Amino acid sequence: RHGGLPQLPLGYKGRHQDSSEECPYLQRQNACQRITDANMFALISLPPGMDKAEWLASNTVAFFNHINLFSSALSEFCTPSTCPTACGPGNMVYFWTDDHGRKLKCSAPLYFDYAMSYIQELLTDEDVFPTKAGATFPTGFIFLVQKVFLLLLRTLAHIYWSHYSEVLALDMHPHLNTLFSHLTLFCQQHSLLEPEDMKPLQDLINALERTFLKNTFL
Ligand SMILES: [Zn+2]
Repeated sequence: RHGGLPQLPLGYKGRHQDSSEECPYLQRQNACQRITDANMFALISLPPGMDKAEWLASNTVAFFNHINLFSSALSEFCTPSTCPTACGPGNMVYFWTDDHGRKLKCSAPLYFDYAMSYIQELLTDEDVFPTKAGATFPTGFIFLVQKVFLLLLRTLAHIYWSHYSEVLALDMHPHLNTLFSHLTLFCQQHSLLEPEDMKPLQDLINALERTFLKNTFL
């Protein structure tokens, strides 16, 4: 579908354009669906007395497990032929940076395969995510956490952009909305994402927040 597109960071093309009318994930009847009415703000805040790095680490593991499971459930729909590029809202194209700092343009399944393996490796590295009592987190821990959250955000962003019709057909959108809202609120609260990474997703974030706040307070 997106084949043949030049390597532009922001290539607007086809389907969604910039009209919210055309974008099913922004439509109120879809955006308002959740699996829980739990107070997200209470869920994301650092519990009193808890070490911040510990809190970030345990949430990183939990988000990874949920998002990895969620995207596996859709993996049969995300193939090199359906998704020749890893793209997200606004037709952003995500490039994988290899060990030598080279940017690779690859299919979505390959990109997200790289991403999940990379995260898995970090999370099981005792020097980065220590699990033993008394172990300390390394310098630069926060930058690694930020990188993980960016990759997790892109995983969900690609699902919204390229696989929303399958998500709707499988009735998974309440789960996706809940997961995405929880993730973006957590990242905002703990300053884990750059504004430029959030920007292409801002209309989605706004649509979800609007309906979420309505559900909670009205
Ligand atoms: Zn895909």
